[in-house]
Amino acid sequence: MSATNRRGKLYLIGAGPGDPELLTLKAVRALGESDVVLYDRLVSKETLALARKDAELIYVGKREGEQHRSQERIFELIRTHALRGKTVARLKGGDPLVFGRGAEEWALAVEYGIAVELVPGVSSAISVPGLAGIPLTYRQIAQSFAVITGHCRTGFEQEWEKYSRIDTLVVLMGVTNRALIAQSLIAAGRDRSEPAAFVEHGSLPDERVVDTTLGAIAAGEIDVGSPAVLIIGKVIALRKRLRARPGANA
Ligand code: SAH
Repeated sequence: MSATNRRGKLYLIGAGPGDPELLTLKAVRALGESDVVLYDRLVSKETLALARKDAELIYVGKREGEQHRSQERIFELIRTHALRGKTVARLKGGDPLVFGRGAEEWALAVEYGIAVELVPGVSSAISVPGLAGIPLTYRQIAQSFAVITGHCRTGFEQEWEKYSRIDTLVVLMGVTNRALIAQSLIAAGRDRSEPAAFVEHGSLPDERVVDTTLGAIAAGEIDVGSPAVLIIGKVIALRKRLRARPGANA
């Protein structure tokens, strides 16, 4: 194990959307092998409980505004622990390479001669809509989807025209800017009556789905908390059929 690796090792692990049963077997094994676990805000307690009892667990979640400083600290932690011969698990929500800066951490480790093993995770972009009964593709309804960030650092620089003709849109990190996102998509040519849905706390016991329209979001009428995925497109109508069961609020 780690003692035989002079330079240690970095596992870049996807923790899935929250439900610990959505971890891969490989993620569970890699966690159990790690001496140090660097974890994000969206990683659940149950998932962390899979780490070794003697592993050092370090919270490295970021808050808005301090992203840069936190990222420097993460790089530093990976470097110092791995260069001391430790096996480091970098545990990220969803899939590590989907808006998680995972590839930057991977590149840095390579630069320092640290071996990296990627453990892909179940991305919230696909699984959270799916669990809510919203498939991103469906024959004759949606042949394409795009996953977009709703987060912006310096103003609102997305080229929304690019997304105006894609059947299903999935916006991550879009809660704060939701009205602006919806307004921009309408300005780029999407219909204001188009179905839209937020899925808050997907895969978790307090999951909540808000069925709405792009126009209502643009008008600032929709209340939603983080984390949530925003889905836009005709596939949302399928939810009524897929989640139709006694007791479901479909
Ligand atoms: N790498 C992650 C995404 C990181 S960006 C992945 O592949 O899932 C963080 C965003 O993911 C949040 O702002 C939110 O939009 C979404 N997200 C993550 N977990 C979620 C969950 N359980 N329910 C709803 N949205 C979630």
